[in-house]
Amino acid sequence: MAVPSLKIGYTDHLRVIAERAWWASLDLVLPPRCQNCNRAGERLCAQCRAEIEYISEPMCQKCGYPKHTPTTVQCEQCWRVAFAGNGLRALAFHAGPLRRAVHGLKYKHNPPLSEALARLISPHWPAIFPGDSILIPVPLAPDRLRQRGFNQAELLARHVGAQRGLPVWPAALRRVRATESQVGKTAQARQANMTGAFAAETKTVRGLNFVLIDDVCTTGATLGACAQALLEGGAAQVWAYTLTRARHDSAD
Ligand SMILES: [Zn+2]
Ligand SMILES: [Zn+2]
Repeated sequence: MAVPSLKIGYTDHLRVIAERAWWASLDLVLPPRCQNCNRAGERLCAQCRAEIEYISEPMCQKCGYPKHTPTTVQCEQCWRVAFAGNGLRALAFHAGPLRRAVHGLKYKHNPPLSEALARLISPHWPAIFPGDSILIPVPLAPDRLRQRGFNQAELLARHVGAQRGLPVWPAALRRVRATESQVGKTAQARQANMTGAFAAETKTVRGLNFVLIDDVCTTGATLGACAQALLEGGAAQVWAYTLTRARHDSAD
């Protein structure tokens, strides 16, 4: 089991490191600009980074949502839509500079931006995640992938994987049926819409630990359906990590 994971991770990481060197050389010619405020120098400048609303303890240990007192069991939000895997975590709230950065990540092919955002994630990587975790980006719907030409979750996962030295297996999970847009749906309707939408490569995932990677977590319905598929495929632990997460009172 360890051989394919090392092989896939190692090849990916070398490619990502080579890409990074290429962008760094291009940056010397044309300095990057901040995705949020357009200031020259960095893809997300220090001033904008200072405005990020990081999520920290105390939080619900299941859904990762901040609480006044830490909960070791599911919180009231979890009772409504419980995450099928071990737990959800996110770097920050979906607000301010990161909200605009996610928009940039999603709608314009910008691998250097995904690398810069992964660099925000890497130092905050949760200690609760197993050290032998394999990263799986949430698969994009095939029509969306055709339209967009790339999966922003995969870009993010590849850079986090390279920075943390973790393998990335995009092919271990796939969409098996089309789903409706999640926009405007309640948490329960989102969950119903995503149930059974994914399937895992059973022989590949059995007995291993995974962290699902996505750009945004709204209600966790998509991540929950992915986790369910991996657990049904025999995965040991399944966690999920997103760059941002919506506030419960948010309409996003
Ligand atoms: Zn800025
Ligand atoms: Zn919770």
